[in-house]
Amino acid sequence: MTESRADDPQPGVFRLMAVHAHPDDESSKGAATSAKYAAEGHEVLIVTLTGGERGDILNPAMDLPGIKDRIHEVRREEMAKAAEALGVQHRWLGFVDSGLPEGDPRPPLPEGSFATIPLEEAAEALIKVVREFRPHVIITYDEHGGYPHPDHIRCHEVSVEAFEKSGDPDAYPGTGEPWTPLKLYYTHGFIRDRMMLFSDEFERHGQESPFKEWLERWDPSRNDLMGRVTTQIECAEYFPQRDDALRAHATQIDPNGVFFAVPLEWQQRLWPTEEFELAQTRVKTAIPETDLFSGIEA
Ligand SMILES: [Zn+2]
Repeated sequence: MTESRADDPQPGVFRLMAVHAHPDDESSKGAATSAKYAAEGHEVLIVTLTGGERGDILNPAMDLPGIKDRIHEVRREEMAKAAEALGVQHRWLGFVDSGLPEGDPRPPLPEGSFATIPLEEAAEALIKVVREFRPHVIITYDEHGGYPHPDHIRCHEVSVEAFEKSGDPDAYPGTGEPWTPLKLYYTHGFIRDRMMLFSDEFERHGQESPFKEWLERWDPSRNDLMGRVTTQIECAEYFPQRDDALRAHATQIDPNGVFFAVPLEWQQRLWPTEEFELAQTRVKTAIPETDLFSGIEA
C-alpha cells in the first residue's frame, strides 16, 4: 500500500477518491479517468469496500482447480495489478461481499455481509479514510447503484454519508480531523447513446452488434442516463490502461467477453470520454464540465 496522504500538496495538485463496492468495479467504471488524473500528477485513491469474495469466476479460462479455494487472495492479487496498471493508490476497507442474491423469492443476504451491517459502521470506516486522504472530489455510484447489486446501493449510501459528514467535527468522533470534500460525483457507464453508436458501427462493418440484445431489451419509457450526465472527461489516451486493469481481474473479466468486444480504435474515435454526474457541490461550477476539479481553487 502506498502513502495516501500528502501534507503539502503542490499548487494545482488535487486529490480524487473513487469509492467502489468490489475489486474490478474501479476498472469498469471511470477507470480511464482515474488513470488520466494520476498521470497528470494528481493524487488518486481507489477505495474498495468489500473483498469480492462472493464473485463467481466469470472467465472460463480461469475456472481452474484451486482458484475458488483461494479466491479471496486471488482477488487481492488481481486488484494490486489493476491499481498498478492505472497508476493509482488503493485501500481495502475489508467488508464482506454480500453476493448477488438470485431466485424468486430472493434469498436473504448472508449474515455479516456488507449490505447487512449498519450504515454508520461502514461509514465510519470510510470517513476515517476521507479524513486521512482529504479528497477534494469523491466519486461513487448513483442511488440505483449503477447496477442493482446490494453492495453497490450500499456503496452509494455510505459514500453520500461520508461526503456529508466528514467535515462535521461532531460526527464520527475518533476518526481523525474533519475534512470537507468539495464535489461528489456519480459514475455512469450504461449509456444508451454510446451503445447505439457502437452498434451502428458494427452494422456498418457487416458484423453483428454485441449490444443488440441489450438495446432490444431497453425499456423506452426509461430515460437514458445521458440525461443525468453533467461532466464528460476526455480520456481516450488512457483506454489501453483501463483495458490492462480490466484484464488484471482475470477471474472476473473474460477477455473474449463484451468488455473487449468494441475495437479500441472505434472507442477512441466514437466515444473518447467517460461520463459523470455532479451530484453535490460546495463550489461554484458551470455545467457542462470537462474536468472533475473545475471550480476548485488551488
Ligand atoms: Zn461490483
